[in-house]
Amino acid sequence: MSDQNCAPAFPAVPEPLKNLKIQYTKIFINNEWHNSCSGKKFPVYNPATEELICEVEEGDKEDVDKAVKAARAAFQLGSPWRTMDASKRGVLLNKLADAIERDRLIIGTMESIDAGKPFVAAYLFDIDGAIKSLRYCAGWADKNQGRTTPIDGNFFSFTRHEPVGVCGQIIPWNFPLLMMAWKIAPAIACGNTIVIKPSEETPLSALYMGALIKEVGIPPGVVNIVPGYGSTAGAAIAHHMDIDKVAFTGSTKVGKLIKEAAGKSNLKRVTLELGGKSPVIIFADADFENALEYAHNGLFYHQGQCCIAGSRIFVEEPIYEAFVRRSIEKAKKRVLGDPLTPGICQGPQINKTQFNNILSLIESGKKEGAKLECGGARWGDKGFYIQPTVFSNVTDEMRIAKEEIFGPVQQIMKFKTIDEVIKRANNTTYGLAAGVFTQDIDKALTVASAFQAGTVWVNCYSSLSPQAPFGGFKMSGNGREMGEYGLNQYTEVKTVVIKIPQKNS
Ligand code: NAD
Ligand code: MN
Repeated sequence: MSDQNCAPAFPAVPEPLKNLKIQYTKIFINNEWHNSCSGKKFPVYNPATEELICEVEEGDKEDVDKAVKAARAAFQLGSPWRTMDASKRGVLLNKLADAIERDRLIIGTMESIDAGKPFVAAYLFDIDGAIKSLRYCAGWADKNQGRTTPIDGNFFSFTRHEPVGVCGQIIPWNFPLLMMAWKIAPAIACGNTIVIKPSEETPLSALYMGALIKEVGIPPGVVNIVPGYGSTAGAAIAHHMDIDKVAFTGSTKVGKLIKEAAGKSNLKRVTLELGGKSPVIIFADADFENALEYAHNGLFYHQGQCCIAGSRIFVEEPIYEAFVRRSIEKAKKRVLGDPLTPGICQGPQINKTQFNNILSLIESGKKEGAKLECGGARWGDKGFYIQPTVFSNVTDEMRIAKEEIFGPVQQIMKFKTIDEVIKRANNTTYGLAAGVFTQDIDKALTVASAFQAGTVWVNCYSSLSPQAPFGGFKMSGNGREMGEYGLNQYTEVKTVVIKIPQKNS
């Protein structure tokens, strides 16, 4: 994830499509398109223009029930899905990746309009990430193997890796296609069936995927897509008695509700990915330009709407002033505008609620005594744009130093010693990611092992890849996604013990 989209020329990236037509707006169950049971639809907006893109069928509890029935039927022993060769599941995932690659311009344009993502970023980062995740999991489909176990006694014992069953998946609006790929790819590779709910803010690329899922020949009922709101369709998934596992990405507040719902219903397995307030520690001996660049992109990429956003930047005293000054310069250089316009590197925030929340956190920063160095207000008069904002003289107890802002607002703090900064960096309920910049390997290792975070970057930031597991310590989540560890979350382990007959000698 880098800000390559701010670079002036990108020959590999074509222009986005003009007048994109939205074809798929219904609920996808059993590889067919359905109207909502209630007859309701909901509006889908473009956050850059605040204009309506289209209306989508609004799924609710009844629609979730229908989808779960389809997913359960597809999961029955003896079904086409349960009897399919594992290697064939890999082939299907690769075909799905091929189809995305073919339709990359359509999906990239759609994602840009629906989520307010600079087109180049969607086209390069999101779509590449989705394709790579599908292909990575495709390779695992026939390699997720158990073991033979030397148990006590005269037995032969082995483990089978079996699918968990019907998986509910609830995804957010910041990386709609990529999050869908991260959820469905391991679930399919391991042989599960799926009921997935995209965010009400960004359902379009998920529905387009429905068409591709059908086209490539994934059997009916394996992937069901129910667009709708969180408190209705989302809650119905979390509370469902016939869903075996829920995977959720979004806010900590809703993450808690999901676990509670699992406890109150059928104790379904729960994995959560819940954002953070990630620290970035920059020592005075670091490669200054490198640290500056990564710290900038690590916060401002996608308008700050990243779970991994490095939103607490601790800079060692001798370079503090220079670092703040150069960070301001970089922030002021960001080009804002319509995400479809070439050369743009910052689009709008996703909606009015997020926009207002970010502005009120900026106000709190000013009130609590941080120094507003640049930005701090709305940009333009249409769309949910916020000026790139930098705060210096931030102290640890300020709201902007504690709460996830999910906006283009950078907090820069000062530190003096390594012991002090490690304590301060870990003084948070979150633990998703962290970064450290230094040329001293001893410092890098000390800090990397002290960080309470699921991913630690040294002299870089935001580098994500499907081969590496991703997830949070503490209240940033439970479980891991992607990598081999991610597949474990879609696998039940079964121990089989066979008595070896004794020969009378
Ligand atoms: P959210 O948690 O409300 O939404 C995420 C998903 O959960 C959406 O699909 C939503 O429909 C669903 N959902 C909402 N309420 C639900 C419920 N009661 N039961 C089941 N599902 C439910 O997030 P938001 O309100 O869109 O954003 C608020 C904050 O969440 C952001 O400011 C940011 O801090 C955080 N967030 C984090 C991530 C991430 O990548 N970890 C992504 C988006 C938002
Ligand atoms: Mn939208």
